[in-house]
Amino acid sequence: VLKIDFRAGPDELAKVLYHYGIGDGVDKIVCPFHDDVNPSMKLNFNDGTFYCFGCGASGDAARFVMLAEKCDELASVFKLFEILKTDEVSTIHAKKVKAKTRKQKELDTVISRDYYKCLATVDWKSCSDEDVCKAKKYMLKRGFTAKTLNESGAKYSYNNSYPLIFPVLDNGKFRGYVCRTTDKKVEAKRKYLYNKGFSRATMLCGTYTQKTVVVVEGYMDRLKFNQFGLKQVVALFGWKATDEQIAKLKQAGIKTIISALDTDECGRKGTRYLAKHFDVIPFQFPAGVKDPGDMTIEQFKKSYKITKRSLIK
Ligand SMILES: [Zn+2]
Repeated sequence: VLKIDFRAGPDELAKVLYHYGIGDGVDKIVCPFHDDVNPSMKLNFNDGTFYCFGCGASGDAARFVMLAEKCDELASVFKLFEILKTDEVSTIHAKKVKAKTRKQKELDTVISRDYYKCLATVDWKSCSDEDVCKAKKYMLKRGFTAKTLNESGAKYSYNNSYPLIFPVLDNGKFRGYVCRTTDKKVEAKRKYLYNKGFSRATMLCGTYTQKTVVVVEGYMDRLKFNQFGLKQVVALFGWKATDEQIAKLKQAGIKTIISALDTDECGRKGTRYLAKHFDVIPFQFPAGVKDPGDMTIEQFKKSYKITKRSLIK
């Protein structure tokens, strides 16, 4: 038996509806699969599914094709690919879906900001609550100071698995939050938790208001560099800068990047990629240091001095 493990998304649904001449970016339509008068079918352009409150028809774009063509599952997937291949990419639907997704993301950001704001401000220097102290102890063990935690705007999230919550500020603008686990077992599954709608591709975490900026991979790397005294540092949330991130850096007038991406193969690939767009100086990590966040202040000072020499050349 051939098992079909294919799940179509919002774009596919929009294109399929366009192909059959149904709807116009609206999210409720007259159901084509039963004798419907009032629009009973709900379209969900967040996950690309449909559901009819009248007849119960539901599924993704492939399922829609299956019902419309009265064919089996395999044939519906082939037909779907045919539709996706031949129909115009830029349809009214696709555009509206995009606008809708963007709007939803903006809304998610507002909700996440309100959530973060509502949490009590923590003074990490003088906290006394047992749970908060436990989270603080974890960060101190990782070489962070209470001062850094205070400056980062870190708060206590009341989520047992992810007790630390940090705001993600893109040149000062709130773009979401990231929560960190302090539990080894949870960490093995997932280190960070982000707010709904968080899209790493479209944001940079940190400050980049001058011509030169240090680029790192993760949130904690940036925090550590801030603690070392560097203020112009951004995290990519990954090793490869996205097109949007590169455009943002260019728009901000960045000319030179000090790449402090991880020292593994991915980090090196990320550095080479940045070099296609900017003057790039690789950060001169001390031997044996894999993660920028693992450096001591002494190691950092020495390495930064060497790095800066190539900056002047
Ligand atoms: Zn129906």
